[in-house]
Amino acid sequence: MYKCGKCGWHFEEDEALRIIERYGDCHGIPAAEYTYFCPLCHSDDISNAGRCAVCGKWKSADDLNSSGVCSDCMKEPEEALFAVLEKHKQCKDELRKFERRCLMLERNAISLARCDYE
Ligand SMILES: [Zn+2]
Ligand SMILES: [Zn+2]
Repeated sequence: MYKCGKCGWHFEEDEALRIIERYGDCHGIPAAEYTYFCPLCHSDDISNAGRCAVCGKWKSADDLNSSGVCSDCMKEPEEALFAVLEKHKQCKDELRKFERRCLMLERNAISLARCDYE
């Protein structure tokens, strides 16, 4: 999936406008190199994109973590996690509950919680 940086359109690889840059041979197998353009506004300002697993918004691939969650959605759980840690320093049950909710989010935050309180 690609996102156009100019008009914001999202499109699949086979929808993109393609121009053959080079046509050659790769170890005896015919190989072509393409440049991709937005099918809507014909801009070449396109990048890989993915849908955030939490908010469902289209984000550039750089903005998604390994669990497919965007940085906007990461911000809030991180802050919430630290608030919970602060409040329930003695209460591992609360922490475990919260960990479960955070499972699909940043693993770093979860392992941080583990080493602090075990
Ligand atoms: Zn476009
Ligand atoms: Zn998100």
